[in-house]
Amino acid sequence: MLEKKMLINGEWVAAKSGKTREIIDPASGEILAIVPESDSEDAKLAIAAARKAFDQGTWRSTPAQARGKLLFKVAQAIMDKFEMFVELEVKDCGKPRREAEFDVNDAANCFEYYGGLATKIHGHTMQTPDGSVSMIVREPIGVCGQIVPWNYPLLMSTWKLAPALAAGNCVILKPSELTPLSALELGKIFTEVGFPPGVVNIITGPGAGAGEELSTNPHVDKVAFTGGTVTGRKVMGNATQNIKNITLELGGKNPILVFEDCNFESAVDWTLFAAFANQGEVCSAGSRLLVQKSIHRKFVDELVKRVPRIKLGHGLKDGVVMGPLVSSAHRDKVESYIQIGIKEGAKLLCGGKRPSGSEYEKGNFVEPTIFDNVDPKMRIAQEEIFGPVLAVIPFETEEEAIALANDTEYGLAAGVFTSNLTRGHRVINQLRAGITWINNYHPTYNEMPWGGYKQSGIGRELGLFGIEAYLETKQINIWMDDNPVGWY
Ligand code: NDP
Repeated sequence: MLEKKMLINGEWVAAKSGKTREIIDPASGEILAIVPESDSEDAKLAIAAARKAFDQGTWRSTPAQARGKLLFKVAQAIMDKFEMFVELEVKDCGKPRREAEFDVNDAANCFEYYGGLATKIHGHTMQTPDGSVSMIVREPIGVCGQIVPWNYPLLMSTWKLAPALAAGNCVILKPSELTPLSALELGKIFTEVGFPPGVVNIITGPGAGAGEELSTNPHVDKVAFTGGTVTGRKVMGNATQNIKNITLELGGKNPILVFEDCNFESAVDWTLFAAFANQGEVCSAGSRLLVQKSIHRKFVDELVKRVPRIKLGHGLKDGVVMGPLVSSAHRDKVESYIQIGIKEGAKLLCGGKRPSGSEYEKGNFVEPTIFDNVDPKMRIAQEEIFGPVLAVIPFETEEEAIALANDTEYGLAAGVFTSNLTRGHRVINQLRAGITWINNYHPTYNEMPWGGYKQSGIGRELGLFGIEAYLETKQINIWMDDNPVGWY
């Protein structure tokens, strides 16, 4: 059935306004589904449901073992529906199959990881100088509004839901208006495995109405946002109104530093993956290549030689490793940056246009694009393009490379390629970024914290840090002497 409903208080409902939105396959233009277009009124209902569920205490007082087991069931159900989720992610956001397979596996693993962590939430106690027993207990924060983008719809939803639920919170998740389908399927799983009504609410609709309500409504205790820095700034401003707890995972303009002593073959391979995985629609994409002058020419020639191996097409087709951009509006934005790069005087080495051929006509495809001789002050070197566009900047010395790498308002990710591990450590230690790799790029682990420095965000998701972000800390002091003190 094409028509979908959203999940509020355990019920599948339409938007109060009756409005809907078509969800489009960005590779073929096919209508995949019609979903409710919620607004602030629907968001208020979802918030009220989550508030009631939290305040009644059913979920937060469910033993941690039982919460964990339910999350294990979610993980299993995702694996049981593996192929359905893979196809949905490919069709909804345009990614190639092999990347969607990774995402679905990783989503299941993430629910498992946090299912296990549910029973490891502990406080501590101490003996005080006055003989009281003082203890710390950890409690869920309460009602959490969770807003996620379109580039990893299932995975970003999972990174938010799994730790929040393990910690005993009640949530309202808002996927991107462009890619809500896997989140709705996840919603079905929550109801099937037996989550109480109101604990998980999933609303589909635009950021401007439903999303803003989540960041402004006084009944929401925490807002967790992943998206662009401009929107993040707005969400943070809104959240100050009632001093919400906040986590922000924002954009990046991430450098790849390639030194002359690198393993050449491997560095070329990872650089292409860093720049072009998921069409470059990755917050941690390596979108600035800083390469040492002595190997600059050879390195860039090899990149360009290999680009034709990146087969574009519908992500479900055999051999395809790059899909379309998520929407025609986003393709317009990426193409406008390519024009800016040309006008600014960068040298276009390959790509820069739409691929030709009938199979590409209905999709939002852009060829993998490499600009050489990019000046670090150019807009294509400073602004997040969020598409398959790599800017190459040559450097002479290690000091220059570090300065160039840090010359950005962002601080999400960075990669260093060198065979000298001492240099690798030395350089990484000076980079202002939250996620770094030496001699590879992009691998992500559910057990390790994810997040950025500077304008790439606040706080961390994943790992132990990820559950911390959904816990309050309460101090309890127990007076151990029954005799009156005699204060007055
Ligand atoms: P946006 O910032 O446009 O949107 C992100 C989410 O916020 C969407 O659900 C959107 O809804 C919603 N939103 C939009 N306006 C508001 C508002 N005023 N109040 C509340 N919510 C709002 O980002 P994109 O979806 O375009 O995603 C790309 C961005 O996400 C990139 O900058 C990328 O770097 C970043 N990102 C960061 C990651 C990280 O871990 N640091 C990971 C993945 C992506 P709608 O779509 O309906 O408008």
